[in-house]
Amino acid sequence: MRNTRQKELILDIINKSCSHPNAYDVYLECRKEIPNISLGTVYRNLNTLVESNRIQKINCNDNIDRYDKMINHSHFICIKCNKIIDINEKVDYNEYVGDNKVLNCKVILEGLCRECLEEER
Ligand SMILES: [Zn+2]
Ligand SMILES: [Zn+2]
Repeated sequence: MRNTRQKELILDIINKSCSHPNAYDVYLECRKEIPNISLGTVYRNLNTLVESNRIQKINCNDNIDRYDKMINHSHFICIKCNKIIDINEKVDYNEYVGDNKVLNCKVILEGLCRECLEEER
């Protein structure tokens, strides 16, 4: 089915990406496989995937939503260029906080990325 193919393609793009694409980036990537796909279709599928917890939406400082895989990892966000960098080192986190089980750890580290630091010098 066509709709399933679109959704699977979008899921695949997000899962393979490390660059935290926004909807337009995903759309451009989709068009390589399905040239006649519309931006609206991409948006609709992204929302469905977020609602069913197969991908996550990241709210960024610039108010443009980015999309990311569900693998547990932390983010470093550059306060200058808004680049999101995956942090895979274990950031201290317990399975339980008090009596509450943590299902997803979302630590966001903010600072200046390498390129912006070099510009500052
Ligand atoms: Zn930066
Ligand atoms: Zn990420």
